[in-house]
Amino acid sequence: MSGALAGDPAARCMGRNVMARRNRIKRTFAIAPARRVTHPQSDGRARVRREPVPAAARAFVVASLVCLASVGGWAQQSDPQQKQQNNQPQKQQNNQQQMRGLDEQIQEVKSDVLRITAELSQLEEKLLYPSGTQVAVFVALAKDDTMRLDAVRLKIDGQHLNGAAPCYNPAHKHARPEESVEKLKDFWQAIYQEAIAVNPDAVIEICPCGTSQAFHNMPYMNQAVASDPESSWQVRHKGKTIKALMGPSAAYAGDHVELSDNADDFASTVGIGAIVSTKFTRGHDAKRGFLLTPDKETDWRKWIALYNDKRLAQGRYRGELYDIGFDKPEAHAIAKDGRCYYAFYADRWDGPIELRGLGEGRYGVIDIWSGRAIGQVSAKANRLAVAFEHFLLLEATPIEGT
Ligand SMILES: [Zn+2]
Repeated sequence: MSGALAGDPAARCMGRNVMARRNRIKRTFAIAPARRVTHPQSDGRARVRREPVPAAARAFVVASLVCLASVGGWAQQSDPQQKQQNNQPQKQQNNQQQMRGLDEQIQEVKSDVLRITAELSQLEEKLLYPSGTQVAVFVALAKDDTMRLDAVRLKIDGQHLNGAAPCYNPAHKHARPEESVEKLKDFWQAIYQEAIAVNPDAVIEICPCGTSQAFHNMPYMNQAVASDPESSWQVRHKGKTIKALMGPSAAYAGDHVELSDNADDFASTVGIGAIVSTKFTRGHDAKRGFLLTPDKETDWRKWIALYNDKRLAQGRYRGELYDIGFDKPEAHAIAKDGRCYYAFYADRWDGPIELRGLGEGRYGVIDIWSGRAIGQVSAKANRLAVAFEHFLLLEATPIEGT
């Protein structure tokens, strides 16, 4: 119901507008039934077929009666059978009375529909355009929980963040209903400034769940997010896009790892310099698959330790070195503290890779997930032969004196 009303702002404002609409509908109905009563279409058609009509007129009638109801009326007037014509006024009167009765019933139903619509609109207005703008957030930790409260973060979340409905709340004193859309950026700015004033280290993440970030909210968040990726590939290419739009050191969260391939692909987040997150549960698995099992916990701890050790999210993403569409295997590079980090992704790869963007001298290369030494490279000899499944995360460290 509310969706159907969205394109008709007038219908949302109560009282006068609804009445005007009702009147319009009434006027329309005053004309339509009368035409149908005077010229019943089926009678007219039957008669036209029986009677002799001059050849030229017949051609005209045959051509026209397919689509024009008024042709039936014309044929009826030229009917020579007087008996039927004598009955016509009485018949018309009866039909008109019947139609009037029907018309009144329709008007009643319409009035009911308009009344319910008005009530729904008022309800919608209260929900969508509240006069109060304050929100209180309460946080509680379960008793005996082993977790320690480290920080409280407010995440603004929902796909409707990228737009706003026209606002009809008189309490807001808008110049026009569309002002709510035009000033959406001011809304983000106000949230950002207030949060930073309360806590200069506040993380302001805006997640337009399942949709892309918008130009009007990007300046007022300090952490973007993959916003409900459906695969690890989406985590990676959204990351590359965000870094291109917001800067090579923009903070980007890969969203919770449970949304990645196999629900455990931290490599796609860590490798591209994104921020890791998970929504695991302990004890009771409210949503299937989110339970942190002992095996999973070992893996989770290892990834988060690696993330904390390298802090690639604080590095400079070098998006210009590899093309995400054409270079195989897919590659990402990050520069941090004089070292170069590379992340390669493929279902399976056995062949050469190229470490681009190296500086002067030689570099020692290790696989940071396994700790294995891979070899040495330089800007001039930057190719290595490798084999891996899913991912390969490399760290290239300058060798002193080379
Ligand atoms: Zn408003």
